[in-house]
Amino acid sequence: MTAVIIDGKQQAAQIRELLAAEISASRIKPVLAVIQVGDNPASQVYVRNKHKAATEIGMDCRVFHLPETADEVMLSELIANLNNDCDVNGIIVQLPLPKHLNELRILSQIAYYKDVDGFSPYNAGLLQMNNSDAVVAATPQGVVELLNASLGSLTGKHVVIIGRSNIVGRPLADLLLNQNCTVTVAHSKTVNLPELARQADILVVACGCPRLVRQDWVKPGAAVIDVGINREDGKLVGDVDFEAVKNVAGFITPVPGGVGPMTVAMLLKNTWQACLKQHSQS
Ligand code: NAD
Repeated sequence: MTAVIIDGKQQAAQIRELLAAEISASRIKPVLAVIQVGDNPASQVYVRNKHKAATEIGMDCRVFHLPETADEVMLSELIANLNNDCDVNGIIVQLPLPKHLNELRILSQIAYYKDVDGFSPYNAGLLQMNNSDAVVAATPQGVVELLNASLGSLTGKHVVIIGRSNIVGRPLADLLLNQNCTVTVAHSKTVNLPELARQADILVVACGCPRLVRQDWVKPGAAVIDVGINREDGKLVGDVDFEAVKNVAGFITPVPGGVGPMTVAMLLKNTWQACLKQHSQS
């Protein structure tokens, strides 16, 4: 058996095309503000990709690059200005921030309706309460889009998520609960992880451990979604041993070309939706 490869690159391209068409027809120019602090090399790449993708679909993407030494006062002032600027529809702070800055305090300052990463406690809380006003974090939203497109209804499926971070594992667990799945969240202290993973109809891996998930961790026919992005000898590899696992899984995402492109597409979708909401209320 060879798994169906879930093509995130193609699905993301379709979403971006649809957004570009809607934006062009609306004659509105959505504005996304991206705050980057310092020169983390991975962050530079992510910010560049977001800028390119946003510009391509007709958004105005404004990057605010602060020095590594920027303090909380500087960052708070910038966020307050962007919150008050009616032209700006979405604000994201590229993570990770330098160690001296308190991520939670910073993210909490973004107006919740401009928080298009969905990382603020307010939006995380709305999601947990299954409230449709929640702005949902892009990566978990992308995972669910890929699953819905491949499997249809997820009701009753047992999902095992490996990883419990605030930006992937936890919001994904909320989203899947809201789609009537039975969700198990595993993490670095989980015992008998392979045995637990084998019980999953859907296995989502987001732990940042290259090729952690082996063939014998996967139930035959299960859907395997690999969120991991790890750099090995200049190459990108996921958290799943793709070559081995594709022989047993029913569906699988590649790295690159799976969840990654969906993350960017969902961020753009969140920004466009925020923009439409703000226009309808002004
Ligand atoms: P994180 O470091 O914040 O969290 C990792 C989680 O995995 C933790 O909850 C930890 O308990 C768990 N974990 C670590 N080692 C484990 C092990 N051996 N067994 C079981 N659980 C283990 O990471 P994150 O920000 O959630 O990112 C996870 C991975 O996803 C990284 O590779 C990251 O680069 C990638 N990522 C990809 C995208 C994307 O768009 N594709 C977006 C965000 C993160």
